Amino acid sequence: MATQTKELKPSAASSSSAGKDAPFPFLDLKAQYATIKDEILAAVQDVLRDQHFIMGPQVATFEHEMERETKACFALGCASGSDAILLALMAYDIGPGDEVITTPFTFVATAGSIARLRAKPVFVDIDPDTFNIDTNKIAAAITPKTRAFLPVHLFGLASDLDPMLKIAAPKSIPVIEDAAQAIGAEYHGKPVGAIGEIGCFSYFPSKNLGGYGDGGLLTTNSEKLADKLKVLRIHGSRTKYDYELLGMNSRLDTLQAAILSVKLKHLHDWADARRRNADRYRALIDEFGLKNVVKAPQVPAGFVHVYNQFVIRVKQRDALKAFLKERGIPSEIYYPSPLHLQPAFANLGYRAGDFPESEAAAKEVLALPIYPELTEAQQRRVIEAIASFHKQAQ
Ligand SMILES: *Cc1c(COP(=O)(O)O)cnc(C)c1O
Repeated sequence: MATQTKELKPSAASSSSAGKDAPFPFLDLKAQYATIKDEILAAVQDVLRDQHFIMGPQVATFEHEMERETKACFALGCASGSDAILLALMAYDIGPGDEVITTPFTFVATAGSIARLRAKPVFVDIDPDTFNIDTNKIAAAITPKTRAFLPVHLFGLASDLDPMLKIAAPKSIPVIEDAAQAIGAEYHGKPVGAIGEIGCFSYFPSKNLGGYGDGGLLTTNSEKLADKLKVLRIHGSRTKYDYELLGMNSRLDTLQAAILSVKLKHLHDWADARRRNADRYRALIDEFGLKNVVKAPQVPAGFVHVYNQFVIRVKQRDALKAFLKERGIPSEIYYPSPLHLQPAFANLGYRAGDFPESEAAAKEVLALPIYPELTEAQQRRVIEAIASFHKQAQ
């Protein structure tokens, strides 16, 4: 990105110089790379020396590390988080005529993977406090065609899995966790990913554990499922040129596995830094008297949040975002439209008004920068600017 040299007017409340008001990025991957560069280059060089790019030994090593991380019996790399979800559904032979219950307030890949198998995403509205699927509304969405629940641990906070598992178990409905944004998050003492039948992770660069390209991983405690997933990710083949299933080409690159092993060692420190930044935002929201206008993320008792995103709720969200942008302060909207209102899902027949909490959230959410390398001064600038916006809007 070219450096913006435009002079930015310091806000009345701040005594900062022009330099301090320079724009900063929403996510600073270059700053993170600078702290691990030598380790990364050594790991990459090993792979380049060995030239074993597909399913090289670094893949199995990383899978074992992820088994320890998630306390899952089996972890299997694949090409992306989207593929992880697709493979998980394929492991249950989910297809035309089947229904999968999920949330409309998520990244497109969650419901997209269901629809790509010609199964039907059945949406259930969210809890406005957590942005995750409202477990009280799941039972009413179950039909004889329901083949799986696909909750999402949105923004790094686990979905409330226990009530879901209680509904699912007597009906033998598997719970597949979309943990793409939540590596390291905990739910009542357990890491996400192996609480349901299958967990799906993504190593897209902006996730808390991001690769240098696409990557994904599946976790499960079932040996039978693990065995099927292993076959599905390599063209449905167990022995070369014998195809027992209709599979895909979806493996985690050796290079990505080597890089991710290096980064995994830092994951918990980075998550701690994200939590520290989240607490700092909360303190600043208090300090600036914004508690009634800015709703910070809530963390229910027994949950450990990893803050892939720090998402606040505000009225006049679009005006605030523009105001921040003018002052060089980055923010993002996750997500501007719930999936049931997207053209790609029009055939499902949903309409505006069907999921009022998701629709309200889409109008009010704003993600603030939260990455580990963010400084206290930058966070103060963010909250100071939000305070000035509210002062002038009054
Ligand atoms: C990122 C993400 C995915 C997809 O992961 P990719 O690796 O980008 O394919 C799926 N679900 C959610 C909730 C995500 O945030």
